[in-house]
Amino acid sequence: MSVATSVCAPLPVLGGDVIVPLADGREVPYAALDYAASAPALQRVWDDVAAYAPYYGSVHRGAGYLSQLSTELFEKARRTVAGFLGCREDDQVVFTRSTTDSLNLLAAALPEGCQVFVFETEHHAALLPWRHARVSCLPAPRGPREAVALLERALADRDPHGPALVCVTGASNVTGELWPVAELAAAAHAHGARIVLDAAQLAPHHPVSVRDLDVDWVAFSGHKLYAPFGSGVLAGRADWLRDAEPYLAGGGASRSVVRRPDGGVEVAWHEGAARHEAGSPNVIGAHAIASACQALTEAGFENLVARERHLIDRVRAGLADVPGVRFLSLFGADAPRVGVLSFVVDGWDSADFATALSTGYGIGVRAGLFCAHPLVRTLLGGDPAAEGDCETPGDLNAVRVSFGAGTPDEHVDRFVRAVRELVATPCGQRTADGRRVPATAG
Ligand code: PLP
Repeated sequence: MSVATSVCAPLPVLGGDVIVPLADGREVPYAALDYAASAPALQRVWDDVAAYAPYYGSVHRGAGYLSQLSTELFEKARRTVAGFLGCREDDQVVFTRSTTDSLNLLAAALPEGCQVFVFETEHHAALLPWRHARVSCLPAPRGPREAVALLERALADRDPHGPALVCVTGASNVTGELWPVAELAAAAHAHGARIVLDAAQLAPHHPVSVRDLDVDWVAFSGHKLYAPFGSGVLAGRADWLRDAEPYLAGGGASRSVVRRPDGGVEVAWHEGAARHEAGSPNVIGAHAIASACQALTEAGFENLVARERHLIDRVRAGLADVPGVRFLSLFGADAPRVGVLSFVVDGWDSADFATALSTGYGIGVRAGLFCAHPLVRTLLGGDPAAEGDCETPGDLNAVRVSFGAGTPDEHVDRFVRAVRELVATPCGQRTADGRRVPATAG
């Protein structure tokens, strides 16, 4: 294969030496190629968490030394994330559980009468939280320019006096394609709307700057950013968050609570990030995210992007001449993208194909509609409005391979070899429970 190899080494991640069984009794090192679902922890993150663990203590609620230390670590993590995201001076960083949680938090903080604009191509985490607002769902654009034009048109028709929010992904979890975030932000602002960036798939692969992109909020998940310890982030403008009811009611969010003479309870809520962080904060999760932010920054996104480009090219070049393998794309084969590629294989059910990659080669990928039902249906030529089950095998399913900073060349090379072999032996054989596996498997 003639692909340039002058790229940086993969970052050390956990799980690289895990051995898994194959259907024929052999054992091989696991090839994690499902980064878009959850990426392995960076070794650096694991080490930082382990180094802190003995000092673990409560956050914002203890006088003891370890509580003080843990509180400082938690707040330091907030500052690190703000720096990583290029936040503005008065932006707020709220620790959540995930991107889903972050976007639901923002949805709960929408001002009265807010109209929300989303493309049907979004992950369900970005498509669904707005169900209590007026939602305009825009059709799938066939290119970045069309995306901006569609949004411009929709915003031009809206009530210019009411509040409005645009929610858009930075990189698709199905095609990996990059969305024109800065242009969409400019369009939103030109029409008096705000914009939240779903960076779940972008932040692990590309630098994200709230300031440079001029987005109002950004959301991402620790577990996709090599920090799988249960935390996520919502960062951005403080005003809507300050004016909203707390996302969760409880300790930590409340500044003062008194019993009223009439038997009721009166609460004064915090105004800063704590307003939406009720309960005991996940200091290990926040620390892990901050550690990942530092590790990626130190590795240099220009190096990580170049390495990922190299891996994408390796997959593309390795499968270019294989008949019957069709990659899914909204913006075209050459559109800039991150290391997330979905495809279908003639003659194969996608779920069977993913299983065959696992049982025959020790490769972990995902098959399904990837919680982006309308988009996958559109890409597969189906009806985006059709009903169906998320992971039910069937014609309208695809296979997704995804990788990132910790992926060695060997994993994508094994994937390419596996696809070539499986396509060459489409009959395979069926196991007792009806699954299709490579013909070589016992
Ligand atoms: N947005 C995108 C683009 C995603 O790919 C995902 C998860 O796959 C999410 C949001 C939701 O992330 P989480 O499951 O961590 O809440």
